[in-house]
Amino acid sequence: MIPSSNWDLSFLYRDFDDPKLESDIETIAKLAAEGAALCEGAKDDLVKLESIVKTAEELTDLIMNTHGYVQLRLSTDCTNETGLQYMDRLSNLMVEVQLCQSAWIRYIGQLKGLEDLIAASETLKSNAFIVREYQQEAKHMLAPDMEKWMLRMSLDGGSAFSKLRDRLMGSHTVELNGKDLPLPAVRGMAYDPDPKVRKEAYEAELKSYQKVENSMAFCIACIKGEAQTMCEAKGYSDVLTQQLSDSRMDRETLDAMLTAIREALPDFRRYLKAKAKLLGHENGLPFYDLFAPVGSVSKRYTVEEARALLVDTFAKVHPAIGSFIDQAFENRWIDMYPAEGKEGGAFCEGFHAHGQSRVLTNFVGSFSDVSTLAHELGHAWHDRCLSTVPTLMADPPMPLAETASIFNETMLNNTVRKTADPATRFVLLENSLMEATQTVVDIYSRFLFESAVIEARKTHIPSAAELNAMMLDAQEQSYGDGLDREVRHPSMWVNKCHYYFSGLNFYNFPYAFGLLFGLGVYAKFQKEGSAFIPQYDALLARCGSDTIANVAASVGIDVRSAAYWRSALDIVRGEIEEFLTLCDQQ
Ligand SMILES: [Zn+2]
Repeated sequence: MIPSSNWDLSFLYRDFDDPKLESDIETIAKLAAEGAALCEGAKDDLVKLESIVKTAEELTDLIMNTHGYVQLRLSTDCTNETGLQYMDRLSNLMVEVQLCQSAWIRYIGQLKGLEDLIAASETLKSNAFIVREYQQEAKHMLAPDMEKWMLRMSLDGGSAFSKLRDRLMGSHTVELNGKDLPLPAVRGMAYDPDPKVRKEAYEAELKSYQKVENSMAFCIACIKGEAQTMCEAKGYSDVLTQQLSDSRMDRETLDAMLTAIREALPDFRRYLKAKAKLLGHENGLPFYDLFAPVGSVSKRYTVEEARALLVDTFAKVHPAIGSFIDQAFENRWIDMYPAEGKEGGAFCEGFHAHGQSRVLTNFVGSFSDVSTLAHELGHAWHDRCLSTVPTLMADPPMPLAETASIFNETMLNNTVRKTADPATRFVLLENSLMEATQTVVDIYSRFLFESAVIEARKTHIPSAAELNAMMLDAQEQSYGDGLDREVRHPSMWVNKCHYYFSGLNFYNFPYAFGLLFGLGVYAKFQKEGSAFIPQYDALLARCGSDTIANVAASVGIDVRSAAYWRSALDIVRGEIEEFLTLCDQQ
């Protein structure tokens, strides 16, 4: 029996009127206002440095609790006025927090003998990676007399265009069969079993973008323009280098991964062409059929069945994850069903100070919903492993953040596929390839597109027509003849929100990294069995306390070598071969 389908947030705050929420926000404001003074005065550097680390820890925990709580409440009640007001207050406070943090970084940047200071303190020893990273970051700071004004201008620059994008797309409707429908509803029709529905939805979606494409072209150009300005002001050679540095990843790793991805594109195209044939298309897959369901299996799961399947699957291979998942259901860590005012999709949010996480999902009973639960509970397990390290080192960079979620998803899929009847296996295999194609091939097209936009923005504000042409070019280079050349999606740049986060660029390659790294870790588990479990948990705990290359090396993976990425892609190639064989038998 499921106790209740709504999550329990009482470990954070009772409600918006809990006095603890107000007092925590006041403490954030106070710590941020007084923080810069910690580096001043005649005290010795060891004392200053220790109090900076302790204050940074306190601030991080308080921000996670307050911001996280408000965000979770809004995620199930998006128009809650009190919640929205709290969110605005916290966003404004973040500028103050950032200024305080910058003062610390500048101070640490000029310290001589940092290693001796670290060696002399337990607090500093256990936070050594972050303290050293601060010292490196000091080389890329905005000038102190300019920083405040640049951050404030950004609220009316990149951030403003980002908010404008949210408004435009939040209220965007698509005219379909005489009705104005919300965009997500029409995009969702790409999964409809009826080919006519998929095609009409796609055509209506493309047509609808004409209403907003000029405004959206301005949004993307101004956000990327600001990114370029910030990158120059901080002394980085280019936006990608800055993003890699923020992700603790080196260029060699990215190049090795992209090399292996380019080599694998012809294999993905074979899958796409086979799916096209299955659906009766001769010239490759039309864009609107990328997500078309194949086969006719539609087993449904109740939440109780999903729980039993997940607990069972993991209890056999990693008992601690098995009982962790059971507790997640028992103790109401999951907000389960779709509801009005609740956001779509799924996510997991961790609260390090409490050693707990919460998962939001929109469960309607498909296998993909069970798989999503496995994915999000993987994030929650990752948080659990990270609760053993200090707060500042419990925040993995984006490429490593998907390790445990992909591991869980792969574990569930492989286990279920092994015992499934042939028809079900075919459907599950196709689903897995459909998702891998998005995470590898589509992500590669997004990487190419974003590179092209940033390059163009150096000289001018690209028009919507120019952006459409760039997108088609990126799709040609990635999908090639796997997609029908006449039926592609020039406006994908309007649709995907990832291009519009101010201060966060190339929010694409981390997805490909996440999938291919997660698969590699899973392959290690398959080879070494239960002996790998302690190593796996240690790897998860380590994700926020070292560079990506060092974290990967701790389980014997060399992410700088294309050979590693080829071996991870070989797992997908194996699925493609199996799919092609099953297609022939259909
Ligand atoms: Zn995830």
